[in-house]
Amino acid sequence: MYQKIILSLTTAFLVGCGVQTDSVTKPSMFQSVHEKEAVLLQEGKDKESCPRCGMNLPKYYKTNHSALLDKKTYQYCSIHCLQDHLYDDVSLKNPLVVDVDTLKFIDATKAYYVVGSSVKGTMSRVSKYAFATKEKAELFQKENGGEIVDFYKALEIAKKDFK
Ligand SMILES: [Zn+2]
Repeated sequence: MYQKIILSLTTAFLVGCGVQTDSVTKPSMFQSVHEKEAVLLQEGKDKESCPRCGMNLPKYYKTNHSALLDKKTYQYCSIHCLQDHLYDDVSLKNPLVVDVDTLKFIDATKAYYVVGSSVKGTMSRVSKYAFATKEKAELFQKENGGEIVDFYKALEIAKKDFK
């Protein structure tokens, strides 16, 4: 009799724990999303990791970039790892960036980057967040500060971060 009660209490406790663990693992950083929300463009067993630094891509999703190199798609944690991997490589093709607003990949060369806002960045003290529309970028800027630039300028700033 007692055993039964203890058993059911234990079960209840374990179930309770499960729920708690789930809420603990919920993303805490601004750039984090749930794994299910993250779009992964690269293939293979390490597709959830940045090929440059190894960081988890869903965790830094809102600064994720991707590009084609030698016909292969690479997905990076940030514009820094993209820059660090490709440099000024002319073969850099189809650079994409996550739109902070919709969490979808968009053409990086057409994105509006908010650089240097008060929201913490990835691999850099100067954060860079991209938006598909100028309106959304301005809304973000209004709340968090920073400067609105294009992809090439953001790339320039990313290069300087290493010096
Ligand atoms: Zn990285």
